[in-house]
Amino acid sequence: MIAHLVFVILALVSIAIFSWKLSSIVKQIKLGRPTNRTDRVGERIKTMLLVAFGQKKMFNRPIPAILHFIFYVAFIITQIELIEVFIDGFTGSHRFFYEAGLGPFYTFVISSIEVLSVLTFIATLIFFARRNLIKIPRFTSSDLNGWARNDANLILLFELLLIIFIFMMNGADEADKIWRSNVGYGFAVSQYLGPLFFGRINNENILHIISSIGWWGHLVMVFVFLNYLPYSKHLHILFAFPNTYFSNLNAKGKFNNMESVEAEVKLMLDPSADPYAAAPTTEAPQRFGAKDVQDLSWKQLLDAYSCTECGRCTSVCPANQTGKLLSPRKIMMDTRDRLSEIGSNNFDLNDGKSLLGDYITPEELWACTSCNACVQECPVNIDPLSIIVDLRRYLVMEESKVPTELTGMLTNIENNGAPWQFSPADRMKWTEEN
Ligand code: SF4
Ligand code: SF4
Repeated sequence: MIAHLVFVILALVSIAIFSWKLSSIVKQIKLGRPTNRTDRVGERIKTMLLVAFGQKKMFNRPIPAILHFIFYVAFIITQIELIEVFIDGFTGSHRFFYEAGLGPFYTFVISSIEVLSVLTFIATLIFFARRNLIKIPRFTSSDLNGWARNDANLILLFELLLIIFIFMMNGADEADKIWRSNVGYGFAVSQYLGPLFFGRINNENILHIISSIGWWGHLVMVFVFLNYLPYSKHLHILFAFPNTYFSNLNAKGKFNNMESVEAEVKLMLDPSADPYAAAPTTEAPQRFGAKDVQDLSWKQLLDAYSCTECGRCTSVCPANQTGKLLSPRKIMMDTRDRLSEIGSNNFDLNDGKSLLGDYITPEELWACTSCNACVQECPVNIDPLSIIVDLRRYLVMEESKVPTELTGMLTNIENNGAPWQFSPADRMKWTEEN
């Protein structure tokens, strides 16, 4: 009875805390400016199915893709066992589906979960080795220093514990059933592991205690994982789906013009236009470009919370490869850190800090070649370049802070209507014969 009550309290408290944190994140994302991503529904669903469900872009690198795919399938299938754990917790039963008479089908499902769990265990160890022993460059670079590196390792540890506890429960149950009736459940892995580890314990009570430790351990790890998720890069297991659905479907390289500026330019290019007669197409923007997270669109903020910190973007970034300060992964991590700082600061937007300056420096921004390689590479269709461009726009249009290499070109565009140092009147001179 007490165990029953503890389970119900634990479940309700942990679901409530998770929901509260998730709603805070949604509120943070809603700080962003509006952008329309509700068009082309069919194309959006297809993109989500291919990129998020099908993990299409992951397979650009087959080895991590296969390992990640094992995680992904195991995560989905294991939910069946988790449902049973919850039913057992709420009803006080043990192995509810088995007792309900599902027999061989139940054994088949749990066996499938066990095989996937073994593969996941191996994949977890390989992931751990890739990060900490083999030291793959994108996992050892300085933009991951500090909490981000620990976060990745912590989740791998959670994963190992989840699997160990479930095998502890299944193994003890197998040994118990064999001891009582000479026939076990026949689960694919624990029919061997159970007798191996617990076969000499000829005591029903002790086997029950071991099984309970496995059940509670697994459950507590599920609750810990759930409430750790909003603080971790692993939030992508939820956000990858909406993030890919709301992807930018335009061709890469097509920049979004600022509507107010575009309207002005169109007026300037039309000699017959009456600037006073023309109705303004948009309201004057509060700010040109972006200085802080509330100047970015909600999709850019959703991007930040969907980033898996995999570093694929940084590993292909030509600026990063040539030793510049820029890392597109850091751009996304900084955006998320600044956003969550505002969220945990009661949404105070006037705290004297900003994304530009306190997190991201102009040096990083101007190192970008706007090649779009990071956008192309990202497995969840994140667009770091759009944030870089918006921050640059602020530097140029609001602060007139431009690298000296660009000032000449901008002056020429302003005076001559072209990047070169020639008067418009001389533009056709090249056609004249000497
Ligand atoms: S667009 Fe900029 S940040 Fe992205 S890969 Fe190219 S240079 Fe790097
Ligand atoms: S932006 Fe995309 S590619 Fe870059 S670290 Fe995040 S998830 Fe990985």
